[in-house]
Amino acid sequence: MKTNRRTIIYPGSFDPVTNGHLDIVHRAAQLFDHIVVAVSANSQKSPLFSIEERLDLLKMALRPLIRSGKASVDSFEGLLVHYAARKGAVGIVRGLRAISDFEYEFQMALMNRFQDSRIETVFLMPDEKYTYLSSTLLKEVVRLGGDIRQFIPSVLVPRIQKKLNPKKSQPFVS
Ligand code: ADP
Repeated sequence: MKTNRRTIIYPGSFDPVTNGHLDIVHRAAQLFDHIVVAVSANSQKSPLFSIEERLDLLKMALRPLIRSGKASVDSFEGLLVHYAARKGAVGIVRGLRAISDFEYEFQMALMNRFQDSRIETVFLMPDEKYTYLSSTLLKEVVRLGGDIRQFIPSVLVPRIQKKLNPKKSQPFVS
């Protein structure tokens, strides 16, 4: 790995990745040389998709950026700042959708800074159309048979349908 490239870590559950996450990755790609999208294995949330499945979905969604060397996907356990330091990252990027994200993100950013003052956290705002989108809401809509085509890359729709709503094999012919 070249030492002079500015790497940023984008950590999260990505259970599963949505267009909101991808919006943040693409914005970060304008600002940094390399983005490591890092699936956290520590999450307190009980994930639906296994780490391997989440990595697979991310790889499918980010194929062009991965091919160009701009992004990579990985998983990590333990303290995020330790992982970021191992990766030689300059910081962490997180998405801010609304005020409701702010308090938790603010606490995390300051705790991470306390743990390692060299690792900065930057926040990016997605396009407005994704500000109400979360992986949790997406899963609920799929389970109930709703239309998710605006919210995840089309290449992921069959995989997500299969996991969450296997009876609905043909997605939403309108
Ligand atoms: P975590 O469990 O770490 O919050 P998530 O996968 O839910 O993991 O979110 C990872 C990051 O992506 C968080 O910073 C979150 O605010 C951000 N994020 C999630 N959904 C969106 C979205 N629709 N638009 C922008 N950022 C988002």
